[in-house]
Amino acid sequence: MSLTNRILIAMVAGILTGSLLSMTLSSATLPEMVRAALEVYLIDGVLDVVGRIFVASLKLLVVPLVFVSLICGASSLGNSSRMGPIAGKTLFFYLLTTALAVTAALTFAVLVSPGSGVELAGEANFQAKQAPPLTDVLVNIFPSNPIQAMAEGKMLQIIVFALLFGLAISWAGEPGQRIAGFFRDMEAVVMKMVEVLMHLAPYGVFALLCKLFATLGITAIFDLATYFFTVLAVLLFHALVVYSLLLKGLTGLSPAMLFSKMRPVWAFAFSTASSGATLPVTLRTVERRLGVDNSVAGFTVPLGATINMDGTAIMQGVATVFIAEVYGVDLSWVAYLTVILTATLASVGTAAVPGVGLITLAMVLSQVGLPVEGIALIIGVDRLLDMVRTAVNVTGDSVVSLIVSSSENKFDETVFLDPHADHDGDDVGDFVPPPH
Ligand code: ASP
Repeated sequence: MSLTNRILIAMVAGILTGSLLSMTLSSATLPEMVRAALEVYLIDGVLDVVGRIFVASLKLLVVPLVFVSLICGASSLGNSSRMGPIAGKTLFFYLLTTALAVTAALTFAVLVSPGSGVELAGEANFQAKQAPPLTDVLVNIFPSNPIQAMAEGKMLQIIVFALLFGLAISWAGEPGQRIAGFFRDMEAVVMKMVEVLMHLAPYGVFALLCKLFATLGITAIFDLATYFFTVLAVLLFHALVVYSLLLKGLTGLSPAMLFSKMRPVWAFAFSTASSGATLPVTLRTVERRLGVDNSVAGFTVPLGATINMDGTAIMQGVATVFIAEVYGVDLSWVAYLTVILTATLASVGTAAVPGVGLITLAMVLSQVGLPVEGIALIIGVDRLLDMVRTAVNVTGDSVVSLIVSSSENKFDETVFLDPHADHDGDDVGDFVPPPH
């Protein structure tokens, strides 16, 4: 069976087993000893350990992978003068898709009115963490110490350093060529590590989802059903309709092929709720299965994982309308435009880890004068939405990578069209079995 199918089966099995466990734990007839054993040894024991090891091993690869693949990309583009246009187009499409996402979210939310009829419960005692000011977000892009940036996993700083390094390699003549060869070899080795770790994925995905669904207060969905399903509907709309139209319209490529190849990436995004942890899988898929050349993917994917969060912006758009309605505040046209602008910028400043979208939501709310404590109202269902919006976030990165690479002729359509792409002749880590 292909790795993709095993990961998807693990995902469904994890959700079902977790929900079953949650029902068992809430049953009044369950002996106290069994409950304690399940909680201590299974949920907080085996499942927790396997899940954490899985996420740690994914994160382990992020910095080396981003560093070497960006250097390879930048060093091969450095002399071609295409670096500027590629960077410009990438930023343009990342901002455009995010702005479209918030606009769709606001439109749906205004039509549905998710907050009307919701009573303000007395529990609105959320302690908002301070969202970073925009000026800091900008200044923090530039590293003063590359080693520290890597140690702390500061993605934008690593990107800036690796870009400079890669460009310098391409300008440095023969010594540069020697170093470039070393980094190309390094990239092949780190990609191999990603493949090997893929074999952990079915176990890791199962453990993460099983633990989450065993402990998640899934009933919170009923209280917030309109909000929850509005966000979900806009997420699906954006992923299936907006991305399909953009892909088809700008490149002529088949969205169905894209979606079928994205399934394992979605499984990772869904179970880790982190575009950062999913990055090794996204990058590998975009390069080896979608056919985007490394010189483009090495730049667009890490950058997208860090600054492009369409799913997060959708949640923020719907949440703003929801909170405004619950608190009885009428939003003006100017307020809506402010939400589009700040949610787009907030998506740049949102770290690619679980739950940060809620923190930057504070920034959006305060820009339009809404009470930040309103976030407490939606916290109950946020983790579930986080999983889905992270899957949308990584899809956006892949779509923009395809658009930019095909416009630059840095795209191999035969790889995109080949359902068996990524079978590289060995048995390690392939998503699909070899063609017969
Ligand atoms: N979990 C999201 C991501 O990593 C960010 C967020 O919306 O909280 O893409």
